[in-house]
Formats: sequence, structure tokens, C-alpha cells
Amino acid sequence: MKTIQVSVVTPDGPVYESDVEMVSLKAQSGELGVLPGHIPMVAPLQIGAVRLKNGGNTKYVAVSGGFVEVRPDKVSILAQSAEVSDSIDVERAMRAKERAEQRLREQQKENVDFRRAEMALQRAVNRITVAGNK
Ligand code: ATP
Repeated sequence: MKTIQVSVVTPDGPVYESDVEMVSLKAQSGELGVLPGHIPMVAPLQIGAVRLKNGGNTKYVAVSGGFVEVRPDKVSILAQSAEVSDSIDVERAMRAKERAEQRLREQQKENVDFRRAEMALQRAVNRITVAGNK
């Protein structure tokens, strides 16, 4: 089976690197599946899961936006933040979800930054979902 190199990097440093058969991710334009030999491209990412398929196994990484650069032999994911599923602190994500939901409920009362709370909620829900896919 042909493989493609994948690296996930954040401002804090590299998070994951591997050779895989297929990379699936959520670009702004929609779900994208990348196989070895893919045409070169750059695309912005949504908050979502990156799925790395290899040898019948799938590894899940939660990413909070950023960019993907695809080359025929390499996929580079440059993310705002990224966590491999088994390194996600679910209780922390639950607390972040609670906080964000609370802020969204209070939006009429105070001048809450709606967009910011919405993004925090999306990150938390994404982490909880990805953590369930170990
Ligand atoms: P929180 O409010 O819990 O900090 P957040 O969405 O604001 O959540 P980020 O700013 O996206 O957090 O991330 C800050 C750093 O903390 C990043 O390095 C990220 O990988 C890490 N991180 C955030 N939430 C979790 C989590 N639930 N489990 C593991 N690492 C996390």
C-alpha cells in the first residue's frame, strides 16, 4: 500500500507525524480526502477532526482551524491547536463547553463576544467528539 507523510504542527511545536494511507480533514470548502499523489493545494481548515488511516487503523486528531498544505508525498497541517484523541482532557473540554454555553445564554444581557463564545463551543464539542474516537 502506498503511503503519504503527514505532519501536524501548532505554534507550540509538532504534535504528530506519521506515514499513512489516507488523510481526511475538514477544509472550509468541505470534507477532503487525500491519497498519495494528490495534486498540490493549500486550504484553510475548519474546527474538526483529522482522520489518519493506516493498516486498518484510524487515528483521530482534533484541530482548531489553520491550514493544510498538500503535496503529492506530504500533507502538512498547520493548526491553531491540535490534540491526538488519547491526549484530550475530556473534563477540561466539558468545562469549556459549559462556559461557552453560559456565555451564549447571557448574550442578550451583556455585550458578550458571540463569535468568540461560538468558536470556544465548537472547539470543546470537537474535542469531546474526537476523544470518543480513540
Ligand atoms: P480551554 O478554555 O479549556 O483552555 P480552549 O479551546 O480555549 O479551551 P485553546 O486556546 O484552543 O483552548 O488551546 C490552548 C492549549 O490547550 C492548546 O495547546 C490546546 O492543545 C490545549 N487544550 C485545550 N483544551 C484541551 C483539552 N480538552 N485537552 C487537551 N489539551 C487541550
